[in-house]
Amino acid sequence: MAYPLQSLSFQTLFDAVADAMLLMSSTGQVAQANTALQQLLGYTAQEIIGLEVEALIPQRYRDHHRRYRMAFIQNPEKRPMASGNELFVLTKDGKELAIDIGLSPIHHEDQLYILVTFYTVYKRQEMEQALRISEERLRLAKKAARLNVFDFDANLEMRNENDQLLAFWGADPKQADQYDTKVSMIHPQDSALRESAMRHATDPASDGEFNVEYRVINPADNSIHWVSAIGKAHFKDGHATRLLGVARDITEQKLLEKKLQDQHTETETLFAKEVASQTASAIAHEINQPLTAISAYSEVALHALEQNIIDSNSLRRALEGCVTQAQRAGGSLHELLAFLQKGELIRDHLDINHAVKEALVIAKSYGYSDFHPMLKLETNMRQVLGNKTQVLKILVNLLRNAVEAMRDAETTSSAISITVRTNSNINMAHVTIQDIGPGLSDEIAKRIFEPFFTTKPKGIGMGLAISRTLAEANGGQLWLDPDIKIGATFHFTLPFVQ
Ligand code: ADP
Repeated sequence: MAYPLQSLSFQTLFDAVADAMLLMSSTGQVAQANTALQQLLGYTAQEIIGLEVEALIPQRYRDHHRRYRMAFIQNPEKRPMASGNELFVLTKDGKELAIDIGLSPIHHEDQLYILVTFYTVYKRQEMEQALRISEERLRLAKKAARLNVFDFDANLEMRNENDQLLAFWGADPKQADQYDTKVSMIHPQDSALRESAMRHATDPASDGEFNVEYRVINPADNSIHWVSAIGKAHFKDGHATRLLGVARDITEQKLLEKKLQDQHTETETLFAKEVASQTASAIAHEINQPLTAISAYSEVALHALEQNIIDSNSLRRALEGCVTQAQRAGGSLHELLAFLQKGELIRDHLDINHAVKEALVIAKSYGYSDFHPMLKLETNMRQVLGNKTQVLKILVNLLRNAVEAMRDAETTSSAISITVRTNSNINMAHVTIQDIGPGLSDEIAKRIFEPFFTTKPKGIGMGLAISRTLAEANGGQLWLDPDIKIGATFHFTLPFVQ
């Protein structure tokens, strides 16, 4: 198919070209300038036509350019101008633009014209500059992060030269680019792991991911470095052609991890020792009193036997006492272990008034009978929800402490008031145990619930810590009354059965 182009004018074509162009006369004047050039340099056609071309380049190049132009006119040929050197043109408002220039001689009606094409290079230069900056940034980042790029081809040859990588391996740079040399530096315990990661990555059936941590032994000083390598294999026609990735020295991180792990183990051991010691103390606390009672009953029985006073009734009472105390000790231990193992807490429906009376009997059986109990028990108390053994333990501990305090202070009268009431503010059963002993100084009061805190020569310091834990485990609270100045007053609460 033919196109009717005869009427298409030179000027239309010239203006349609995207590159900036001008036609220069053999005497160096601008004979024509297309629209792209006018836009590039900021001239109108009228302004630019007739100008000496040197007006379009910076002052400092003009003389040189005139000589160059004249030489070119003598021997015109199609070629780039000053290829390899940077050229500049000057816009109308005096801005310099980097440019590449192509020159093409044209003969028309015995006249020589030179078609000058301007290829703006600033975009290319900007991109080159941006690339240089980005490469520099990457280099710095790699250096800072101690990242080392590796690039293996299908034969496991290194494709890139990387001094940093060689230094990192601690290798002799002359040998270290040999794959075998490098592999020989891998810690024997880790080489199979690394090989398998390599096999996985280069297996065409895999996702190509390479991710492994291994040790290398620096042959210079036998020091060991940890390496973390992450990469990706590339495949072509079902074969791995390249394995590209980064390796990082993670020795410091590994040492830190090891240190933290050691510290953790040490803390765990200390914690385990602490728990063991607290458990042992709690056990001692639980069986101390029954053992003392058993010992007292046994002494009574032995004494009777030695004196030949065989009164079967008193002997039976002594032995029954031993049995009860031994069973109580066993029961206590059982409960304690269940509690420590955080097993299911068996809660009973308790008559708290009854529990108070039972606790008084137990305290007396432990040898704490030298006091006068003053009971103020609310009648028709609702039943509380709690583990019976544990509630009794709280009561006995508080009674024991009250008696011991009064004994130590050698108070003339020893009365302990025990009040049970409904605390309607919080809808709970509220038990108060008040003695008339010496009380507690502020200093001591602050510390009494700490495990192992005791002011008694033979004390263990676990009674109140255990009692508070038990009250809380049963849904209540236990505290020392800070306002009472005579003796000591302890309170504890327990929830009602709903
Ligand atoms: P322990 O009885 O083995 O010392 P506790 O935990 O039961 O352990 O008590 C801790 C400390 O609290 C006691 O050593 C004592 O100083 C103080 N304490 C407890 N109850 C009373 C009380 N009723 N009066 C005065 N001090 C008390």
